[in-house]
Amino acid sequence: MAYSYEAPVSQSLFDRASVVTPGGVNSPVRAFRAVGGTPRFMVSGAGPYLTDADGREYVDLVCSWGPMILGHSHPEVIAAVQEAVSRGTSFGTPGEGEVALAEEIVARIEPVEQVRLVSSGTEATMSAIRLARGFTGRAKVVKFAGCYHGHVDALLAAAGSGVATFGLPDTPGVTGATAGDTVVLPYNDLDAVRAAFAAHPGEIACVITEASPGNMGVVPPADGFNAGLKELCAANGALYISDEVMTGFRTSKAGWYGVDGVRPDLMTFGKVMGGGFPAAAFGGRGDVMAHLAPAGPVYQAGTLSGNPIATAAGLAQLRLLDDAAYAKIDAVSAELRSLVGEALTKEGVAHTVSAASNMFSVFFTDRPVRDYDDAKKQDVFRFTAFFHSMLEQGVYLPPSAFESWFVSTAHDERAVERIAAALPAAARAASEATA
Ligand code: PLP
Repeated sequence: MAYSYEAPVSQSLFDRASVVTPGGVNSPVRAFRAVGGTPRFMVSGAGPYLTDADGREYVDLVCSWGPMILGHSHPEVIAAVQEAVSRGTSFGTPGEGEVALAEEIVARIEPVEQVRLVSSGTEATMSAIRLARGFTGRAKVVKFAGCYHGHVDALLAAAGSGVATFGLPDTPGVTGATAGDTVVLPYNDLDAVRAAFAAHPGEIACVITEASPGNMGVVPPADGFNAGLKELCAANGALYISDEVMTGFRTSKAGWYGVDGVRPDLMTFGKVMGGGFPAAAFGGRGDVMAHLAPAGPVYQAGTLSGNPIATAAGLAQLRLLDDAAYAKIDAVSAELRSLVGEALTKEGVAHTVSAASNMFSVFFTDRPVRDYDDAKKQDVFRFTAFFHSMLEQGVYLPPSAFESWFVSTAHDERAVERIAAALPAAARAASEATA
Protein backbone atom coordinates (compact mmCIF):
# COMPACT_ATOMS: atom_id res chain seq x y z
CA MET A 1 0.00 0.00 0.00
CA ALA A 2 1.47 3.39 -0.97
CA TYR A 3 0.71 6.49 1.07
CA SER A 4 0.40 9.87 -0.58
CA TYR A 5 1.18 11.83 2.54
CA GLU A 6 4.60 10.57 3.57
CA ALA A 7 6.40 12.41 6.31
CA PRO A 8 9.97 13.17 5.18
CA VAL A 9 11.41 14.31 8.52
CA SER A 10 9.86 11.39 10.40
CA GLN A 11 11.16 9.08 7.66
CA SER A 12 14.71 10.38 7.98
CA LEU A 13 14.57 10.07 11.79
CA PHE A 14 13.23 6.54 11.39
CA ASP A 15 16.09 5.70 9.00
CA ARG A 16 18.60 6.99 11.56
CA ALA A 17 16.83 5.15 14.38
CA SER A 18 16.80 1.89 12.44
CA VAL A 19 20.62 1.93 12.31
CA VAL A 20 21.08 2.19 16.08
CA THR A 21 17.88 0.64 17.50
CA PRO A 22 16.30 -2.71 16.53
CA GLY A 23 13.39 -1.96 14.22
CA GLY A 24 13.91 1.77 14.84
CA VAL A 25 11.75 1.92 17.97
CA ASN A 26 11.97 1.33 21.71
CA SER A 27 8.62 -0.48 21.94
CA PRO A 28 7.46 -2.65 19.02
CA VAL A 29 3.93 -1.40 18.36
CA ARG A 30 5.24 2.12 17.72
CA ALA A 31 6.85 0.88 14.49
CA PHE A 32 3.59 0.81 12.45
CA ARG A 33 4.39 -2.75 11.33
CA ALA A 34 0.73 -3.77 11.62
CA VAL A 35 -0.49 -0.91 9.42
CA GLY A 36 2.55 -0.06 7.26
CA GLY A 37 3.94 3.38 6.50
CA THR A 38 6.26 5.64 8.44
CA PRO A 39 5.88 5.97 12.21
CA ARG A 40 5.41 9.59 13.19
CA PHE A 41 8.13 11.05 15.40
CA MET A 42 6.36 13.45 17.72
CA VAL A 43 8.02 16.60 18.98
CA SER A 44 5.38 18.15 21.21
CA GLY A 45 1.95 17.71 22.70
CA ALA A 46 -0.61 20.25 23.92
CA GLY A 47 -4.06 19.32 25.21
CA PRO A 48 -5.62 16.80 22.77
CA TYR A 49 -3.03 17.49 20.04
CA LEU A 50 0.34 16.08 19.04
CA THR A 51 2.72 17.73 16.56
CA ASP A 52 5.14 15.62 14.54
CA ALA A 53 8.63 16.38 13.28
CA ASP A 54 7.19 17.47 9.90
CA GLY A 55 5.09 20.11 11.67
CA ARG A 56 1.73 18.33 11.22
CA GLU A 57 -0.80 18.43 14.05
CA TYR A 58 -2.96 15.44 15.00
CA VAL A 59 -5.88 14.95 17.36
CA ASP A 60 -4.44 12.26 19.64
CA LEU A 61 -6.59 9.22 20.42
CA VAL A 62 -3.69 7.23 21.87
CA CYS A 63 -2.79 9.51 24.78
CA SER A 64 0.59 7.76 25.19
CA TRP A 65 -1.34 4.44 25.41
CA GLY A 66 -3.38 5.70 28.34
CA PRO A 67 -1.37 7.88 30.72
CA MET A 68 -2.26 11.32 29.30
CA ILE A 69 -5.78 11.41 30.73
CA LEU A 70 -5.63 15.20 31.21
CA GLY A 71 -4.21 15.76 27.73
CA HIS A 72 -0.64 16.78 26.95
CA SER A 73 1.31 19.41 28.90
CA HIS A 74 -1.40 20.02 31.48
CA PRO A 75 -0.20 23.22 33.22
CA GLU A 76 -0.65 21.90 36.77
CA VAL A 77 1.19 18.65 36.03
CA ILE A 78 4.01 20.55 34.31
CA ALA A 79 4.22 22.96 37.27
CA ALA A 80 4.44 20.05 39.74
CA VAL A 81 7.22 18.49 37.66
CA GLN A 82 9.13 21.77 37.44
CA GLU A 83 8.84 22.31 41.18
CA ALA A 84 10.05 18.76 41.89
CA VAL A 85 12.91 18.86 39.40
CA SER A 86 14.17 22.13 40.87
CA ARG A 87 14.93 20.17 44.06
CA GLY A 88 16.86 17.35 42.36
CA THR A 89 16.09 14.28 40.28
CA SER A 90 16.73 11.21 42.44
CA PHE A 91 17.92 10.67 45.99
CA GLY A 92 17.92 6.90 46.51
CA THR A 93 16.24 7.46 49.87
CA PRO A 94 12.60 7.56 50.93
CA GLY A 95 10.81 10.86 50.24
CA GLU A 96 7.49 12.47 51.07
CA GLY A 97 6.21 12.41 47.46
CA GLU A 98 6.10 8.62 47.37
CA VAL A 99 4.25 8.48 50.70
CA ALA A 100 1.66 10.96 49.37
CA LEU A 101 1.20 9.00 46.12
CA ALA A 102 0.80 5.72 48.04
CA GLU A 103 -1.75 7.39 50.35
CA GLU A 104 -3.70 8.68 47.34
CA ILE A 105 -3.84 5.17 45.82
CA VAL A 106 -4.86 3.55 49.10
CA ALA A 107 -7.54 6.22 49.65
CA ARG A 108 -9.04 5.70 46.19
CA ILE A 109 -8.97 1.92 45.96
CA GLU A 110 -10.43 0.24 48.98
CA PRO A 111 -8.94 -3.27 48.52
CA VAL A 112 -5.43 -1.78 48.46
CA GLU A 113 -4.25 -1.73 52.07
CA GLN A 114 -0.59 -1.38 51.16
CA VAL A 115 1.17 -0.53 47.93
CA ARG A 116 4.73 -0.74 46.58
CA LEU A 117 5.87 1.71 43.88
CA VAL A 118 7.85 0.51 40.86
CA SER A 119 8.74 2.04 37.48
CA SER A 120 6.72 0.12 34.86
CA GLY A 121 3.60 -1.96 34.51
CA THR A 122 5.78 -4.93 33.61
CA GLU A 123 7.64 -4.61 36.91
CA ALA A 124 4.32 -4.37 38.75
CA THR A 125 2.87 -7.60 37.30
CA MET A 126 6.19 -9.45 37.56
CA SER A 127 6.49 -8.50 41.23
CA ALA A 128 2.83 -9.29 42.00
CA ILE A 129 3.29 -12.78 40.58
CA ARG A 130 6.48 -13.37 42.52
CA LEU A 131 4.68 -12.25 45.66
CA ALA A 132 1.72 -14.53 44.94
CA ARG A 133 4.09 -17.47 44.47
CA GLY A 134 6.01 -16.58 47.62
CA PHE A 135 2.83 -16.17 49.65
CA THR A 136 1.14 -19.38 48.51
CA GLY A 137 4.24 -21.53 48.05
CA ARG A 138 2.84 -22.61 44.68
CA ALA A 139 4.32 -22.30 41.17
CA LYS A 140 1.57 -22.11 38.57
CA VAL A 141 0.00 -18.96 37.16
CA VAL A 142 -3.25 -18.80 35.19
CA LYS A 143 -3.55 -16.09 32.53
CA PHE A 144 -5.94 -15.50 29.65
CA ALA A 145 -5.20 -15.50 25.92
CA GLY A 146 -5.26 -11.96 24.59
CA CYS A 147 -4.53 -10.38 27.98
CA TYR A 148 -1.22 -8.50 28.05
CA HIS A 149 0.56 -7.96 31.34
CA GLY A 150 3.83 -6.52 30.07
CA HIS A 151 6.82 -8.50 28.83
CA VAL A 152 7.22 -10.67 31.93
CA ASP A 153 8.67 -14.02 30.76
CA ALA A 154 6.01 -16.15 32.40
CA LEU A 155 3.22 -13.95 31.06
CA LEU A 156 4.27 -13.86 27.42
CA ALA A 157 3.03 -17.42 27.12
CA ALA A 158 -0.24 -17.16 25.27
CA ALA A 159 -0.17 -20.22 23.02
CA GLY A 160 -3.22 -22.45 22.78
CA SER A 161 -6.67 -21.36 23.66
CA GLY A 162 -7.68 -24.88 24.68
CA VAL A 163 -8.87 -25.60 28.20
CA ALA A 164 -6.05 -25.85 30.73
CA THR A 165 -3.31 -25.93 28.09
CA PHE A 166 0.22 -25.56 29.31
CA GLY A 167 1.60 -22.37 27.80
CA LEU A 168 4.33 -22.72 25.22
CA PRO A 169 6.96 -20.01 24.87
CA ASP A 170 5.51 -17.34 22.59
CA THR A 171 8.86 -15.72 21.97
CA PRO A 172 12.41 -17.03 21.69
CA GLY A 173 14.19 -16.34 24.96
CA VAL A 174 11.36 -17.53 27.19
CA THR A 175 12.31 -21.02 28.32
CA GLY A 176 9.92 -23.93 28.29
CA ALA A 177 10.46 -24.25 32.03
CA THR A 178 9.27 -20.69 32.62
CA ALA A 179 6.31 -20.97 30.29
CA GLY A 180 5.49 -24.43 31.63
CA ASP A 181 4.26 -22.92 34.89
CA THR A 182 1.80 -20.73 32.99
CA VAL A 183 -1.66 -22.04 32.19
CA VAL A 184 -3.24 -20.08 29.33
CA LEU A 185 -7.04 -20.12 29.12
CA PRO A 186 -9.63 -18.52 26.84
CA TYR A 187 -10.97 -15.23 28.19
CA ASN A 188 -14.50 -15.04 29.60
CA ASP A 189 -14.64 -18.81 30.14
CA LEU A 190 -15.19 -19.72 33.81
CA ASP A 191 -15.58 -23.42 32.97
CA ALA A 192 -12.02 -23.38 31.66
CA VAL A 193 -10.84 -21.88 34.95
CA ARG A 194 -12.77 -24.51 36.93
CA ALA A 195 -11.16 -27.24 34.81
CA ALA A 196 -7.68 -25.76 35.36
CA PHE A 197 -8.12 -25.82 39.15
CA ALA A 198 -9.35 -29.41 38.92
CA ALA A 199 -6.38 -30.42 36.75
CA HIS A 200 -3.79 -28.81 39.04
CA PRO A 201 -5.03 -29.19 42.62
CA GLY A 202 -2.94 -27.20 45.13
CA GLU A 203 -0.56 -25.97 42.40
CA ILE A 204 -2.01 -22.66 41.20
CA ALA A 205 -0.60 -19.61 42.96
CA CYS A 206 -2.75 -17.02 41.23
CA VAL A 207 -5.06 -16.09 38.42
CA ILE A 208 -4.04 -12.83 36.74
CA THR A 209 -6.43 -11.02 34.44
CA GLU A 210 -6.76 -7.58 32.94
CA ALA A 211 -9.55 -6.03 35.04
CA SER A 212 -11.23 -5.28 31.71
CA PRO A 213 -9.03 -6.22 28.77
CA GLY A 214 -7.83 -3.54 26.37
CA ASN A 215 -4.95 -5.37 24.73
CA MET A 216 -6.94 -7.47 22.24
CA GLY A 217 -9.06 -4.43 21.50
CA VAL A 218 -11.57 -3.65 24.22
CA VAL A 219 -13.28 -6.88 25.37
CA PRO A 220 -15.08 -6.29 28.67
CA PRO A 221 -15.58 -9.13 31.14
CA ALA A 222 -18.94 -10.90 30.77
CA ASP A 223 -21.35 -10.35 33.66
CA GLY A 224 -20.09 -12.30 36.66
CA PHE A 225 -16.73 -13.28 35.09
CA ASN A 226 -14.48 -11.34 37.47
CA ALA A 227 -16.68 -12.28 40.45
CA GLY A 228 -16.45 -15.92 39.37
CA LEU A 229 -12.65 -15.72 39.17
CA LYS A 230 -12.49 -14.26 42.64
CA GLU A 231 -14.73 -17.02 43.99
CA LEU A 232 -12.79 -19.83 42.31
CA CYS A 233 -9.48 -18.42 43.56
CA ALA A 234 -10.80 -18.15 47.11
CA ALA A 235 -12.19 -21.70 47.01
CA ASN A 236 -8.86 -23.10 45.78
CA GLY A 237 -6.39 -21.14 47.93
CA ALA A 238 -5.09 -19.05 45.00
CA LEU A 239 -4.78 -15.27 44.78
CA TYR A 240 -6.88 -13.22 42.37
CA ILE A 241 -4.69 -10.55 40.72
CA SER A 242 -6.46 -7.79 38.85
CA ASP A 243 -4.17 -6.00 36.40
CA GLU A 244 -5.36 -2.39 36.33
CA VAL A 245 -2.30 -0.96 34.59
CA MET A 246 -4.58 0.23 31.78
CA THR A 247 -7.94 0.63 33.53
CA GLY A 248 -6.59 2.00 36.84
CA PHE A 249 -7.63 5.62 37.54
CA ARG A 250 -9.06 5.73 33.99
CA THR A 251 -12.32 3.80 33.89
CA SER A 252 -13.41 5.54 37.11
CA LYS A 253 -11.84 7.26 40.12
CA ALA A 254 -11.15 3.75 41.47
CA GLY A 255 -10.47 2.18 38.07
CA TRP A 256 -12.32 -0.99 37.08
CA TYR A 257 -12.75 -1.86 40.76
CA GLY A 258 -14.92 1.24 40.92
CA VAL A 259 -17.03 -0.23 38.11
CA ASP A 260 -17.52 -3.87 39.12
CA GLY A 261 -16.66 -3.82 42.84
CA VAL A 262 -15.00 -7.24 42.76
CA ARG A 263 -12.32 -7.26 45.44
CA PRO A 264 -8.95 -8.58 44.25
CA ASP A 265 -6.23 -9.94 46.53
CA LEU A 266 -3.58 -8.02 44.59
CA MET A 267 -3.80 -5.27 41.98
CA THR A 268 -1.33 -3.70 39.58
CA PHE A 269 -1.27 -0.11 38.32
CA GLY A 270 0.73 2.04 35.90
CA LYS A 271 0.05 4.52 33.07
CA VAL A 272 -2.33 7.20 34.54
CA MET A 273 -0.74 7.10 38.01
CA GLY A 274 2.61 8.27 36.58
CA GLY A 275 1.31 11.39 34.82
CA GLY A 276 3.44 10.53 31.77
CA PHE A 277 6.50 9.48 33.81
CA PRO A 278 7.70 5.94 34.62
CA ALA A 279 5.71 5.16 37.77
CA ALA A 280 3.69 2.03 38.46
CA ALA A 281 2.63 0.05 41.52
CA PHE A 282 1.27 -3.16 42.93
CA GLY A 283 -0.70 -3.51 46.11
CA GLY A 284 -3.56 -5.19 47.90
CA ARG A 285 -4.23 -7.26 51.02
CA GLY A 286 -2.07 -6.20 53.96
CA ASP A 287 -1.32 -9.80 55.01
CA VAL A 288 -0.05 -10.60 51.50
CA MET A 289 1.94 -7.37 51.08
CA ALA A 290 3.58 -8.05 54.48
CA HIS A 291 5.52 -10.86 52.77
CA LEU A 292 7.45 -8.30 50.71
CA ALA A 293 11.03 -7.32 51.65
CA PRO A 294 12.08 -5.74 53.96
CA ALA A 295 8.91 -6.58 55.96
CA GLY A 296 8.99 -10.17 54.69
CA PRO A 297 11.07 -12.64 52.68
CA VAL A 298 9.91 -12.02 49.07
CA TYR A 299 12.56 -9.80 47.48
CA GLN A 300 11.70 -6.84 45.28
CA ALA A 301 13.56 -3.56 44.77
CA GLY A 302 14.31 -0.67 42.38
CA THR A 303 16.95 2.10 42.14
CA LEU A 304 14.42 4.59 40.76
CA SER A 305 11.26 3.26 42.47
CA GLY A 306 9.25 6.16 43.88
CA ASN A 307 11.31 8.67 41.86
CA PRO A 308 10.50 12.21 43.06
CA ILE A 309 9.70 13.64 39.60
CA ALA A 310 7.50 10.70 38.63
CA THR A 311 5.62 10.73 41.92
CA ALA A 312 5.08 14.51 41.72
CA ALA A 313 3.65 14.17 38.20
CA GLY A 314 1.44 11.22 39.16
CA LEU A 315 0.15 12.88 42.29
CA ALA A 316 -0.65 16.13 40.49
CA GLN A 317 -2.53 14.20 37.82
CA LEU A 318 -4.51 12.03 40.27
CA ARG A 319 -5.51 15.05 42.35
CA LEU A 320 -7.04 16.68 39.26
CA LEU A 321 -9.05 13.54 38.44
CA ASP A 322 -12.27 14.28 40.30
CA ASP A 323 -15.84 13.22 39.48
CA ALA A 324 -16.23 16.08 36.99
CA ALA A 325 -13.13 14.95 35.10
CA TYR A 326 -14.45 11.39 34.72
CA ALA A 327 -17.88 12.68 33.68
CA LYS A 328 -16.19 14.69 30.95
CA ILE A 329 -14.07 11.79 29.68
CA ASP A 330 -17.09 9.46 29.70
CA ALA A 331 -19.13 11.98 27.70
CA VAL A 332 -16.42 12.55 25.07
CA SER A 333 -15.93 8.80 24.74
CA ALA A 334 -19.68 8.22 24.27
CA GLU A 335 -19.88 10.96 21.64
CA LEU A 336 -16.94 9.58 19.67
CA ARG A 337 -18.29 6.04 19.85
CA SER A 338 -21.57 7.11 18.33
CA LEU A 339 -19.86 9.23 15.65
CA VAL A 340 -17.61 6.32 14.62
CA GLY A 341 -20.54 3.89 14.62
CA GLU A 342 -22.70 6.22 12.51
CA ALA A 343 -19.96 6.81 9.94
CA LEU A 344 -19.23 3.09 9.51
CA THR A 345 -22.94 2.20 9.36
CA LYS A 346 -23.50 4.82 6.69
CA GLU A 347 -20.86 3.17 4.51
CA GLY A 348 -22.20 -0.30 5.22
CA VAL A 349 -19.02 -1.45 7.00
CA ALA A 350 -19.55 -4.41 9.36
CA HIS A 351 -18.30 -3.29 12.77
CA THR A 352 -18.72 -3.44 16.53
CA VAL A 353 -17.82 -0.47 18.71
CA SER A 354 -16.79 -2.15 21.94
CA ALA A 355 -16.58 -0.12 25.15
CA ALA A 356 -15.61 -0.60 28.78
CA SER A 357 -16.47 2.62 30.57
CA ASN A 358 -14.59 5.32 28.59
CA MET A 359 -12.13 2.89 26.93
CA PHE A 360 -13.24 1.74 23.51
CA SER A 361 -12.12 0.22 20.24
CA VAL A 362 -13.66 -0.74 16.91
CA PHE A 363 -13.75 -4.32 15.69
CA PHE A 364 -14.31 -4.64 11.95
CA THR A 365 -16.82 -7.45 12.33
CA ASP A 366 -20.46 -7.54 13.38
CA ARG A 367 -20.07 -10.84 15.21
CA PRO A 368 -19.86 -10.63 19.03
CA VAL A 369 -16.32 -10.42 20.44
CA ARG A 370 -15.93 -12.19 23.78
CA ASP A 371 -12.34 -13.43 23.57
CA TYR A 372 -9.10 -13.27 21.63
CA ASP A 373 -10.20 -15.79 18.98
CA ASP A 374 -13.27 -13.66 18.24
CA ALA A 375 -11.13 -10.49 18.11
CA LYS A 376 -8.79 -12.06 15.56
CA LYS A 377 -11.69 -12.85 13.21
CA GLN A 378 -12.24 -9.20 12.23
CA ASP A 379 -11.34 -7.66 8.83
CA VAL A 380 -8.02 -6.17 9.89
CA PHE A 381 -7.40 -4.84 6.36
CA ARG A 382 -10.38 -2.50 6.82
CA PHE A 383 -8.85 -1.11 9.99
CA THR A 384 -5.59 -0.47 8.09
CA ALA A 385 -7.40 1.63 5.47
CA PHE A 386 -9.42 3.42 8.15
CA PHE A 387 -6.27 4.15 10.19
CA HIS A 388 -4.35 5.68 7.26
CA SER A 389 -7.26 7.83 6.17
CA MET A 390 -7.61 9.20 9.72
CA LEU A 391 -3.84 9.78 9.94
CA GLU A 392 -3.80 11.61 6.63
CA GLN A 393 -6.61 13.83 7.92
CA GLY A 394 -4.80 14.58 11.18
CA VAL A 395 -6.25 12.06 13.63
CA TYR A 396 -3.79 9.78 15.42
CA LEU A 397 -5.27 6.34 16.22
CA PRO A 398 -3.41 3.41 17.75
CA PRO A 399 -1.55 1.75 14.85
CA SER A 400 -3.19 -1.65 15.45
CA ALA A 401 -6.71 -3.06 15.35
CA PHE A 402 -6.08 -4.73 18.72
CA GLU A 403 -5.58 -1.67 20.93
CA SER A 404 -7.88 0.54 22.96
CA TRP A 405 -8.50 4.16 21.93
CA PHE A 406 -8.07 6.72 24.70
CA VAL A 407 -9.54 10.18 25.25
CA SER A 408 -8.76 12.87 27.82
CA THR A 409 -10.37 15.78 29.61
CA ALA A 410 -8.68 18.01 27.00
CA HIS A 411 -10.69 16.54 24.10
CA ASP A 412 -12.98 19.52 23.61
CA GLU A 413 -15.59 20.38 20.99
CA ARG A 414 -12.99 21.52 18.46
CA ALA A 415 -11.06 18.25 18.73
CA VAL A 416 -14.26 16.21 18.42
CA GLU A 417 -15.30 18.24 15.36
CA ARG A 418 -11.98 17.49 13.70
CA ILE A 419 -12.47 13.78 14.32
CA ALA A 420 -16.07 13.96 13.08
CA ALA A 421 -14.93 15.69 9.89
CA ALA A 422 -12.38 12.93 9.19
CA LEU A 423 -14.72 9.99 9.78
CA PRO A 424 -16.76 9.91 6.53
CA ALA A 425 -13.70 9.54 4.28
CA ALA A 426 -12.11 7.01 6.66
CA ALA A 427 -15.32 4.94 6.74
CA ARG A 428 -15.41 5.06 2.92
CA ALA A 429 -11.78 3.91 2.79
CA ALA A 430 -12.65 1.02 5.13
CA SER A 431 -15.61 0.06 2.96
CA GLU A 432 -13.56 0.13 -0.26
CA ALA A 433 -10.58 -1.75 1.22
CA THR A 434 -9.76 -5.19 -0.08
CA ALA A 435 -7.96 -7.98 1.74
N1 PLP B 1 -0.57 -4.59 32.05
C1 PLP B 1 -1.42 -4.04 31.17
C2 PLP B 1 -2.88 -4.32 31.28
C3 PLP B 1 -0.95 -3.21 30.15
O1 PLP B 1 -1.80 -2.68 29.28
C4 PLP B 1 0.45 -2.96 30.07
C5 PLP B 1 1.00 -2.10 29.01
O2 PLP B 1 0.35 -1.73 28.06
C6 PLP B 1 1.29 -3.55 31.02
C7 PLP B 1 0.76 -4.35 32.00
C8 PLP B 1 2.77 -3.29 30.98
O3 PLP B 1 3.06 -1.98 31.34
P1 PLP B 1 4.43 -1.30 30.88
O4 PLP B 1 4.35 -1.11 29.41
O5 PLP B 1 4.46 -0.02 31.67
O6 PLP B 1 5.54 -2.22 31.29
